[in-house]
Formats: sequence, C-alpha cells, structure tokens
Amino acid sequence: MSPTATAAELKSCPLYINGQPVISRGHKDIQYNPATGEAIAEIPRTTPEEISQAVEAARKAFPGWSRTPVLQRCRFMFNYRQVLEANSRELIALITEENGKTVEEARGSFQRGIECIEFACSAPSLMMGDTVEQVGTSVDGWSVRIPVGVCVGITPFNFPFMVPLWMFPMAIACGNTFVLKPSDKVPRTAVRLVELAYEAGLPAGVLNLVHGAKDTVDYLLADPRVKAVSFVGSSAVARYIYQTASHNGKRVQALGGAKNHSVVLPDADMKSTVSAVMGSSFGCAGERCLATSVVVAVGEAGDPLVKELVRAADNLTVGPGCDVKTGMGPVITEDAKKRILSYIELGEKEGAVLARDGRRDGVTKGNGYFVGPTILDKVNPNSRVAREEIFGPVLSVIRVKDLKEALEVISKSEYGNAASVFTRSGGAAREFTQNVTAGMVGVNVGVLAPVAFFPFTGWNNSFFGDLHALGKDSVHFYTEQRVVTCRWPD
Ligand code: NAD
Repeated sequence: MSPTATAAELKSCPLYINGQPVISRGHKDIQYNPATGEAIAEIPRTTPEEISQAVEAARKAFPGWSRTPVLQRCRFMFNYRQVLEANSRELIALITEENGKTVEEARGSFQRGIECIEFACSAPSLMMGDTVEQVGTSVDGWSVRIPVGVCVGITPFNFPFMVPLWMFPMAIACGNTFVLKPSDKVPRTAVRLVELAYEAGLPAGVLNLVHGAKDTVDYLLADPRVKAVSFVGSSAVARYIYQTASHNGKRVQALGGAKNHSVVLPDADMKSTVSAVMGSSFGCAGERCLATSVVVAVGEAGDPLVKELVRAADNLTVGPGCDVKTGMGPVITEDAKKRILSYIELGEKEGAVLARDGRRDGVTKGNGYFVGPTILDKVNPNSRVAREEIFGPVLSVIRVKDLKEALEVISKSEYGNAASVFTRSGGAAREFTQNVTAGMVGVNVGVLAPVAFFPFTGWNNSFFGDLHALGKDSVHFYTEQRVVTCRWPD
C-alpha cells in the first residue's frame, strides 16, 4: 500500500444484493490510481455465500420483472439515462481516476455507453415476434420472444462504464435480471452504475453486483440458476468462459482480444491517415480492443508514413488523464507496464527498427504506470510483436509491396476483430472490404466501434459464441423464442 493512504482512508467498494449495498466479508485487494501509483480503494473478492445471495436475489426478482410490461421496463431506461447524465461529471472523473483515460476519452466512452441505454429503449419493437394466420385449417401460428432468466455479465478493465452497458440495459429491458461482475481493476464505476440504477427506480434484485476475479467467475459459471453469460475480455479467458459456461448448459457470448491492422496505400491522404492511425493506436493508451496495433504500409507509403507517425507521437503529451493538456494517459497497472516494456525489448530482439522508443519519455520515470508511444518499424509479420496482443501504446509497422500481400498478412492473424484501409481508390477499398478477414471493417476510419444498433462482430479468436453483443443479436441473445400453434374451430 502506498505510504500516502492508510487503510481507513481507502474508499470502500460495496456489493449490491437485492437493491442494497453490502460490505463484503471477503478478502480485500488494493486498487491503485494508474496515474500516480497511489492506493485508492479496497476491492473485495466476494465470498461464495455472497455470490449465491446475489444470484438468488436475481432469481427471485425475475418473475415480477419479466411480467412487468415492457413499456414500464423501458421507462426505467429513460429515467436511468437521465440520472446518469445528471451525474456525468462525477462518472467521467471516476472513469479517469480508476482507468487512467483522458477526460476526453472518458467522456467519449460515457456517450457510447449512454447510446446503449437509448438502444435498449427500443426493446418493445425489437422483441416483436411473427404471426402467420391459417398455417393449417383454423390454425394460426405465432412466435414471441421471452426473457431467459438470470443473466451474468463479466467485464474487462478498459471500458469501466461502456462495456457493462453493452450488457445489462438490453438484458433488463428484455425482462431478465442480472448479476454484474466487473473487472477487479476498475470496480468502482460499476458500483456507481448499479447505485444510480436504483436511484432511477429499478426494483430490488433486478441488477446485482459482485466483485472478484476467477473464483467469483467460476462460481457464477457453475451456478444452475444462471441461464446466460456475457463476457468481454482477453481471448484466453473468453475461450475458457465459452467452454465452461456452454458445458454447464448456459448460452454464452464471449468477446476476446484483438490484433487490428490498418492498411495504408500510397494514395491515402497522409494528414488524415496519420491523425486516424494516431488516435486508433495510442488513444486510451492502446488499451482498446479496436486499437490499430499493426500498420501495414504498402509500397512507397511506408517511409513518409513512419516519419509522420513519429513526428505526431513526439508531439503527444503523455500524463495523468485528469490534466486537460494530456493526450495519452497511463496504462492500467504496474504489471501491464512491465509486460508492455518486455514486448518492446522483444521487438528489438526480433529485428524490428525502433522508430520511436516510448521507454525514454520522462514521464515513464515517475510513480504512475506510463509508457510513451512506441513505434516498431520493419516488423517481421511472423514475429511475436506482430502476432500477439500487446494491449498498450506500441505500434508495429509491417512493410508490404501491394494490397494483396497486406490482405495475406491479415488473414494469418489468429484474431479478427477489426481492420481498416486508408486509400482514395474506390476499387481498392472495395477489394479490401470484400476480402479482409475481420468482422469490423473500416475505410478511412481509425476506430471502428459500431453504433449500438449494429452488433460488435469480432471473428476467430476475437469472439466465441453465436450471437454477438449489441444490435439485434443482443435481443436474440437475451430472449428465448416460443412458437405457438393454435387451433380454434371456425
Ligand atoms: P481479462 O480477460 O484479464 O479480464 C476480463 C474479466 O475476466 C475480468 O472481469 C476478470 O476479473 C475476469 N477474469 C480474469 N481472469 C480470469 C480467469 N482466469 N477466469 C475467469 N475470469 C477471469 O481482460 P482485461 O485485461 O480486463 O481486458 C483487456 C482484454 O479485453 C484485452 O484482451 C482486450 O482486447 C479485451 N477486450 C475485448 C473487447 C471486445 O469487444 N472484443 C472489448 C474490450 C476489451
């Protein structure tokens, strides 16, 4: 623990069970401010009894909530949106404090989260079924969508506000009840999300909150009262969650990690391309599943592009997210910083040219978990830095001769979240969008986050399951279909 905080000064982090805050009796871990390295809060791991109580509260609330008219459920969503907006300043500051994002990035993620609530307000029309009269003599058939029961959401550290909102608003609007298990690195934004849901009028037990990491998750995956699991995090854990939860008979959507490519053709507009690649690679300190972590530079695009990227990276102000002058904040933990630095070393060993070395930036010498923007040039496409998710401000540049070779490099990736092309050629853009092996594809766009009414369509090891988060997929995920066949004699 930092000498600047005593145990008594640390903020507490309650669970929420049946609409009430509960101080866990579980072991407490310490949360550190990534920008200063100071201890800020105590994070409980949650005991098995407490997890069971949270699931039971959700189970008991389900019959009443699922029978609550859908318009009433959506009315809660309208209220919730308003309550969150009213508390936006505090929430944005909290996201910055516990995750390290700049205030502008936190504000952007706040807005994207709000859009998920707005989308959930469409549940009445999205849940509509189909009807066909006279499927047989005097027989009509129709389908309805009904909620599945207790749903669980397990979320990562990088979007403490937005990613939980990918999950529980639609689940709840569809009539389910929910147990949220946020990242153990950023749980306090989740606490406010749940507190404010109750302030907005949610009935007790509809949304519950537990903390912890693997033990808590394993309990939830094994609990027969849980019917569906939504997960967002790294691929290794996503695969485990998918296999374990589906083995236990639950429906699962598990979104995993990524290694995203931006292909830059020689005819691309250099100024806007550099700006888009910079935002995509170093925004949120590279801790984004849609970050460009590899630039594939085609032909003569390479030299001027690397030169301009290095110049832009030199001008990026790295510092605490709460400082308005900051362009890039810290990474999440000391361990994350060590991992990222070891990848930079590895890149050098693998023969990459260190075009910009973020380890030298002055800010990296303080107590916060800072890594300066780093650019590895002439990276071998088969090297580990080119293939593995680093999840930090490290951009690899691979040089290729043409678009065909660029598409081949991307096709060898084990991931498939997102890929972009930068060009002025409609033909090249069309060839790219039709052939690239990624689920979210951009043309002259750096961050391909789909708006809430489209699904978040990762491929390969970036997604395990059938129905994606967001879009109509999310309604289908959080509902069962019932088909009724009905005969009434004429
Ligand atoms: P993580 O996989 O370490 O943790 C995610 C969640 O799983 C957390 O709640 C954590 O407590 C829990 N967890 C961790 N280890 C576990 C284990 N062994 N068993 C069960 N549960 C476990 O991910 P992270 O570091 O918090 O987040 C970063 C990762 O998330 C990156 O790989 C990033 O690409 C990915 N991500 C993906 C998307 C997407 O949409 N595909 C979005 C955001 C983040």
